[in-house]
Amino acid sequence: MAKETHEFQAETKKLLDLMVNSIYTNHEIFLRELISNASDAIDKLHFASLTDHDILGGDEDYEIFLVPDKDSHTLTISDNGIGMTRQEVIDDIGTIAKSGTKAFLEKLKEAKENSESVTDKDMIGQFGVGFYSAFMVADKVVIQTRKAGEDGATRWESDGSGSYTIDDCDKEKRGTTITLYLKKEFYGDEAEENFLDEHHIEHVVRKYSDYVRYPIKMNFETEEIPRDKDGKPIKDAKPEKKVELRTLNSMKPLWTRSKNDITADEYNEFYKNQFHEWEDPMYTFHINGEGTVEYTALMYIPTKAPFNLYHADFEPGLQLYSRHVFIMDKCKDLLPDYLRFVKGLVDSPDLSLNISRELLQQSRELKVIGKNLANTILKKLAKVLKDDREAYEKFWAEFGKSLKIGIYGTIYTGGDAKDKLKDLILFYSSKEKKLVTLKEYKERMPEAQKKIYYATGKDTGVIDELPQMEALKSRGFEVLYFTDPVDEFTIEALHDYDGTEFQSVSKGDLGLDDAESAEEKKETEKVQKESTDLLKDIKEALGDKVAEVKISSRLKSSAVCLVADQYGPSLSMEQNLSDMDNPMFKAKRILEINPHHELFAKLNEVHDAGKDSSEFKDYCDMLYTQALLIEGILPDDPVAFANKVAKLMAK
Ligand code: ADP
Repeated sequence: MAKETHEFQAETKKLLDLMVNSIYTNHEIFLRELISNASDAIDKLHFASLTDHDILGGDEDYEIFLVPDKDSHTLTISDNGIGMTRQEVIDDIGTIAKSGTKAFLEKLKEAKENSESVTDKDMIGQFGVGFYSAFMVADKVVIQTRKAGEDGATRWESDGSGSYTIDDCDKEKRGTTITLYLKKEFYGDEAEENFLDEHHIEHVVRKYSDYVRYPIKMNFETEEIPRDKDGKPIKDAKPEKKVELRTLNSMKPLWTRSKNDITADEYNEFYKNQFHEWEDPMYTFHINGEGTVEYTALMYIPTKAPFNLYHADFEPGLQLYSRHVFIMDKCKDLLPDYLRFVKGLVDSPDLSLNISRELLQQSRELKVIGKNLANTILKKLAKVLKDDREAYEKFWAEFGKSLKIGIYGTIYTGGDAKDKLKDLILFYSSKEKKLVTLKEYKERMPEAQKKIYYATGKDTGVIDELPQMEALKSRGFEVLYFTDPVDEFTIEALHDYDGTEFQSVSKGDLGLDDAESAEEKKETEKVQKESTDLLKDIKEALGDKVAEVKISSRLKSSAVCLVADQYGPSLSMEQNLSDMDNPMFKAKRILEINPHHELFAKLNEVHDAGKDSSEFKDYCDMLYTQALLIEGILPDDPVAFANKVAKLMAK
């Protein structure tokens, strides 16, 4: 096929730009990234060879080879892994396939423009830009790659600005060779970091890639003075050049070493190398399981949630090994989905090497291991919550949503996640304007309070102003603030917390049964009866916009509010579901009117003057629209509303 020039996809360009102009100072990390990719490519080939041994073509000596060339100022990283086809190069190298990338980059740009403290490191950290890090040290990169089992090879070249070229090429063996044309500042004796110096390369490989399972080899050029028969250096003889092939990494899996001998740094470096991470993890778990099933697990909770954690293309799962031999990447059947953010691996002699995904799902061993691992993580989280609230809240900010979704998911999957997670979830609350657990909430409930109250809204400020909050505030009842759309679904799934039911401030009857509310109820019922005609006519004027119009007992100073039926979806659920293109659920809207508000008297007056008058109809409409606005819902016709208000003001 002919040589072609392609433009990078817009998102890729942005990322490249970030990379090239990055203030990220840890340049050496590019080597770790390229070696990880090489190691992954060998993993993939090895995995394919389990079912198709011929794919190896007799070459089973997996290796990664580094060649620093001081004449051409290039550093070459080669592997004899799976390689790529021409189309794969275009798809995997020229584009970023992750969904949500664009939105994420835009969010970052916005954050930067608002000079929020987002650093390049944060951005790269959440992304893991892998291959592109080559452009931190190189001003030109050439890839030559040949897919295992195929004849032709492909050459890709780019200077990292706007485009790349792709062409056929000759390549004797399968695998990928990446040649970096180093930027001036990264080679030569003057350079602070000389990536053509064998000793520096060796140092960087040891630091970041020591545990890579395949040998990383490099020729060391040394000069030696020739020696005589007795082994003494020959005087005035010219030094002889010698080449010595060395393997730079130990390849000893970290997890097989004794916990006591492993430093925090070693755990962290292993994590970054193995899982393509840029930042140290938040927590590390190294577990040796004995009993019916023997296993070792090394798991990590990242410091930052990946930006696509909840996107469909995010692949959770742990790596699987059997007797230190890699079996599978991203095994989803170990940890429950609510721990999808956990990275790690499991090595067990009780797992079979040639196990297929289908068989794996039914593996009893895997179930036992998975259960133990999940319990260990949950136990640790419970301990952090108890002993170090600040640390737990940091964890919560990154991964809390996962746990909440986990509870919600039990509606479909059943299981005991509800019980396991109910004491680990936090909500922001009105009492101290802080995050609380449900247990804390329940423990400090006044005796007169019978339910756990919550309010939904866009943010805490909006919720604070909700008229529906008034009756609770005046009684000193604490209210949980639900600002995340999943919150309400979560407690729907929970139903109650240790016997105490949840109650939305915007739904049905608030369930207040103190003396004050008995009095209020009596009063409300009386006004309700007296206002039968008025309420009926308002309902008529509004048509099917509302299901019911009622006198309110929950309002103190506001004139109106909208509430939903106790047993149906709430208004905010309806909004969230329609945002998700799922307008299936319609909340039953009930308009509540405050009989103590001065507007109520006026309403009666206008009603008395004639229920068919346009004035009464306008009043009804404005009343309803006000209630909508309070809920953060825009009226269907904002212009008509504005005109009516203007007319009224001019009177
Ligand atoms: P990531 O490794 O996070 O997927 P990269 O940008 O590092 O992102 O690589 C993109 C993709 O390019 C990889 O997922 C892989 O499919 C392909 N790739 C990169 N390096 C190699 C390699 N040495 N051999 C085969 N494929 C590779």
